[in-house]
Amino acid sequence: LHRNPGETEFHQAVREVLESIGPVLGKHPEYAESKIIERICEPERQIIFRVPWEDDRGEVHINRGFRVEFNSALGPYKGGLRFHPSVYLGIVKFLGFEQIFKNSLTGLPIGGGKGGSDFDPKGRSQREIMRFCQSFMTELYRHIGEYTDVPAGDIGVGGREVGYLFGQYKRITNRYESGVITGKGLSYGGAQVRTEATGYGCAFFVDEMLKARGTSFDGKRVVVSGSGNVAVYTIEKIQQLGGVVVACSDSSGYVVDDAGIDLDLLKQVKEVERLRVDVYAKRRGGDASFVPGRSVWEVPCEVAMPSATQNEVTGRDAEMLVRGGCIAVGEGANMPTMPEGIRVFQEAGVAFGPGKAANAGGVATSALEMQQNASRDSWSFEFSERRLQEIMRDIHARCLATADEYGMPGNYVAGANIDGFRRVADAMLALGLI
Ligand code: NDP
Repeated sequence: LHRNPGETEFHQAVREVLESIGPVLGKHPEYAESKIIERICEPERQIIFRVPWEDDRGEVHINRGFRVEFNSALGPYKGGLRFHPSVYLGIVKFLGFEQIFKNSLTGLPIGGGKGGSDFDPKGRSQREIMRFCQSFMTELYRHIGEYTDVPAGDIGVGGREVGYLFGQYKRITNRYESGVITGKGLSYGGAQVRTEATGYGCAFFVDEMLKARGTSFDGKRVVVSGSGNVAVYTIEKIQQLGGVVVACSDSSGYVVDDAGIDLDLLKQVKEVERLRVDVYAKRRGGDASFVPGRSVWEVPCEVAMPSATQNEVTGRDAEMLVRGGCIAVGEGANMPTMPEGIRVFQEAGVAFGPGKAANAGGVATSALEMQQNASRDSWSFEFSERRLQEIMRDIHARCLATADEYGMPGNYVAGANIDGFRRVADAMLALGLI
């Protein structure tokens, strides 16, 4: 705590992992002897930089940019960029730390990192977004590379922003280095299913948890928080699997639509017009209504998919969900459930899929994008989706098997933390004191 003062979210993420891996350290004294824990908690490198840019009226703004290169034992640093006013070092470090174990769980050759800026894209014009991205990359470019560090999107960074970032990287370096960033558009080196991957992957993971309990999404009432990239494609796949998504949200409130969310309308409002969810309710009419300023978790459901941001499910929200009949939770977002909430779900016997397992489909598909870039190849949608589904099944199976091995059957949190940790720790041991 004294080494990283004020970094609340980072402390929370570290505590959660350390609470799980006690039994592993008991079995493997070599980890403690070579100070793996101390090393893994210390980023290999952290970069903080100034991002000056000019708005459409000619006013100058200064934002702060971050890239935390946390662990490269398994491969180049890999993790998204977040543009949101709440971003500070503690958020980037928590996300980077989680990313180490998530990337390890995918079984693919990627290390962990994360970055972003306290820039607020809300209300900014397309040209302002472009200028900001160009300024951000004008510093970031010297730290990244196909074999070094490969960023991607996250909150506030989608296909449009990745395009501007890649364009500036290409211009400064004079290299068409497709593998330097993932989440690219299909016309310039992007991969099929990357846009859908985190949401689809999370739905696949929960489908596996439900199957393990002898049930399925079919006819289940589902609530998804957020209405960004992860939320939209979580809704799409759940609908394909037979679930009925009755609510989603953004930071202004939530929409409840008992007939089931009209996904085409939601995509039009959020992805095309970039408007708020209240517009969805107004256009949808019927029984759909917008509830401003309240938590979407007050809507009763059988499956909950938190897909917006960290710490969005409190202990009270979790109690409300359990009372409302919730039997499964899949974290599309990173660390959306507060520690009290996780306890409530686990004590109530709810199947709880933590983000580092349930939302790993996004980064796994990014690694597949890197693979296609390296081989100048491009795979079909069907093939890529099949690979994603296999990866999610494998992660689910390994979480369950590891939880069993350590005497905590059904505990996906322990399974994910232990399995993710072991692979990184073994690589760090093999690579010597780095
Ligand atoms: P987007 O920017 O596309 O969407 C974020 C959504 O969450 C928006 O609806 C936004 O509402 C809402 N939201 C964000 N911050 C807050 C907040 N402080 N309070 C309430 N609502 C909020 O981001 P993504 O969908 O890409 O990311 C969502 C989550 O998934 C994040 O936790 C991210 O780290 C995680 N994730 C994303 C991956 C990806 O591939 N994109 C991969 C793995 C995890 P509003 O527009 O009002 O701000």
